[in-house]
Amino acid sequence: MGVQQSRRSKSRTRKKRSMWARLDTPTRMECPQCHEAKMPHRVCPSCGFYKNREAIKVNAAE
Ligand SMILES: [Zn+2]
Repeated sequence: MGVQQSRRSKSRTRKKRSMWARLDTPTRMECPQCHEAKMPHRVCPSCGFYKNREAIKVNAAE
């Protein structure tokens, strides 16, 4: 006899989980170097600093 595998589809479960992940992680943080808004765990796009040192060279010297 056929048995129902689950009431809720994989798609619905994953959609709901992805929404929770988005709520928990902020999309922007303040750079400690230049105090611009940047993505967490990314090199800052305006000053190129990451972990208190210059990780990349940014051409915008203003
Ligand atoms: Zn910065």
